[in-house]
Amino acid sequence: MFAAIVRGLLTTLGWGLRKPVTIEYPDVKRPVFERFRGRHELKRHPNGLERCIGCSLCAAACPADAIYVEPGENTDEERYSPGERYAKRYEINMLRCIFCGFCEEACPVDAIVLEHNYEISSYTREAMIYTKEMLLVPPPPGVPGTPQRTPAPPPQYMERPVSNPQRVDRTPPGGYITSYVPVEVVGEELRPWLLNPVDEAEAPEGTPSHAS
Ligand code: SF4
Ligand code: SF4
Repeated sequence: MFAAIVRGLLTTLGWGLRKPVTIEYPDVKRPVFERFRGRHELKRHPNGLERCIGCSLCAAACPADAIYVEPGENTDEERYSPGERYAKRYEINMLRCIFCGFCEEACPVDAIVLEHNYEISSYTREAMIYTKEMLLVPPPPGVPGTPQRTPAPPPQYMERPVSNPQRVDRTPPGGYITSYVPVEVVGEELRPWLLNPVDEAEAPEGTPSHAS
């Protein structure tokens, strides 16, 4: 009996000396796995244009019918994306979403990506309809947002390295094309089609441009 009491006290003492496992959320956040699928983001090109071309393939692939896309036409005076069209309206109903990632898989230009943010609770249903303004990431520092006054890119395209670490282990040996950057031909060289001459002065150092 006495031995059992001592054993119990020692067990309590042993646990008391261990490092606590409690995470003081929300001040401390436990890192998620690389392939964790959280809140969606709509990505941009390095020149600030939106990657989304309003094709609605994500909406077609969504098993929960959670995505609504309304396309609009780009013009040289008001350009949102390098393609003919852009997403004039883009909404995700987060109450329907099951975070399966099918939208991300279906997107031909890697515009929609499920990132690592899991803080998406709310008090109302309306607040769970995420609009394009909520989903679209800000442009890179020193780069203008959209719309931009810029001509359509030339029709050549080249493969671009995978940018999202979540995608890396899905790429088969030898790779496959997951996203594209519009390029222009300068002599025999292919260069990324980026800022128009009007915006080059505002580009961050090291950003390729038409004039470089
Ligand atoms: S993660 Fe799945 S359920 Fe959610 S919007 Fe994308 S396709 Fe639909
Ligand atoms: S996110 Fe991708 S799949 Fe969806 S409309 Fe935009 S370009 Fe098309």
